Amino acid sequence: MAEHIDKVLCDEYIDKRVTVRGWIYRKRRMGKLIFVVLRDATNIIQAVVEERKIGEEKFKLLDKTGVESSLILTGKVRKEQRAPTGYEIDVDSVEIIGTSYNFPITKDKSDDFLLDNRHLWVRSREMNAILKIRDTVFGAIHEYFRENGYCESHGPMFVTGAVEGGSTLFEVPYFGKKAYLTQSSQFYLETLIFSLEKVYTIAPSFRAEKSRTRRHLTEYWHAEAEAAWYHNEDMMRDEEELIVYMIQRLIEERKRELQILNRDIDFLKSIEKPFKRMKYEELIRFAQSKGIDIKYGDDLGADEETAITKHFDGPVFVTHYPIEIKPFYHRPDPENPRVVLCHDLLAPEGYGEIIGGGERIYKLEVLLRRMEEEGLNPEDYYWYVDLRRYGSVPHAGFGLGVERFIWWLAGLSHIKYAIPYPRTIRRTRP
Ligand code: ATP
Ligand code: MG
Repeated sequence: MAEHIDKVLCDEYIDKRVTVRGWIYRKRRMGKLIFVVLRDATNIIQAVVEERKIGEEKFKLLDKTGVESSLILTGKVRKEQRAPTGYEIDVDSVEIIGTSYNFPITKDKSDDFLLDNRHLWVRSREMNAILKIRDTVFGAIHEYFRENGYCESHGPMFVTGAVEGGSTLFEVPYFGKKAYLTQSSQFYLETLIFSLEKVYTIAPSFRAEKSRTRRHLTEYWHAEAEAAWYHNEDMMRDEEELIVYMIQRLIEERKRELQILNRDIDFLKSIEKPFKRMKYEELIRFAQSKGIDIKYGDDLGADEETAITKHFDGPVFVTHYPIEIKPFYHRPDPENPRVVLCHDLLAPEGYGEIIGGGERIYKLEVLLRRMEEEGLNPEDYYWYVDLRRYGSVPHAGFGLGVERFIWWLAGLSHIKYAIPYPRTIRRTRP
């Protein structure tokens, strides 16, 4: 009997007869030998198939079938320096389960071609590594929040109001009326803190982003939290703990995958809390000192964030933005009401914003005044306003773009690689 292996092959299996199931990653014929590199969810493994061991007929079939055919191979494991993982299987039995001819993905395909064939490209070693990193990130977010007293809950995806401004709302017909896809679950989480105190969610957010950048998707996964009795600094402390926790978990669990993606692990290990904090006005001065064309009052666009964060050696919290460039719900600083008690977390190495957060207005009259200044109708937000009527408390929250984090952490060139099926201005398929 051969043991079925679904783990990475290691010394423990030398001289044992094993069965592996997987897909042909590479194949090369040399006379009466076929070298197959088989891949499965764990890794790749080289296998040598000799014609005399499996018979002429099977050998011919194996020779004909192409890359991505599915096989079950059985044979003895041996050490082999020249094999890609240092081991090789000396095959004595082959079962061809699903043939594959002319697999469309070959070397040097264009980016658009790979996106059109994402359903096949997810099998690549790079995507496999990214998807595993993504798995660990989602797990770590849940672990962190659950271990720190947060309760998971959910807002709806069909909504009737904007959180982040009207220009990026997706409108959908809703039984003869209009609804929108949610841009953020924040307002709903704010309602839930009056029941649960500390809440979080991981849910899709939708943004009709008209600009094409390396950092915007139209549908992304948003990890959001709100906590009663929290001030700006309390929230930042939880966020840096969460970020450091995720990095630690990835280094423990996904070192191999980070190596496949050529990520500098020593750099990731160097990231420690507390993160640097900088007021918006300091950031502007810093940017100007580096020759970046920006002035006080400007919002940071993708280009500015890239230019600025190239000079950072770790994540940086930027706080106290001018009130005009942040949404109405941010709490004005009682010591200087021209700025708000908020923070963005900017990732280094040219990546930029991965978190937006801050303290929320909790006094009714302040909220109503800010809504009036922004031309918003309190009727449209009656339930949000109600929270300031019935037992309001100071509170704060944040939103982490999960793909933004993965994009930075894995050192990817574009955010579209951080999600299995990216949705952008130009793409809704596959
Ligand atoms: P940006 O200025 O980069 O567009 P934002 O200020 O619109 O971001 P927020 O509204 O604060 O972002 O959203 C919270 C977080 O959600 C951001 O810090 C970011 O990580 C993520 N995020 C926002 N928009 C997108 C998007 N289009 N695609 C992917 N992630 C996004
Ligand atoms: Mg935006």
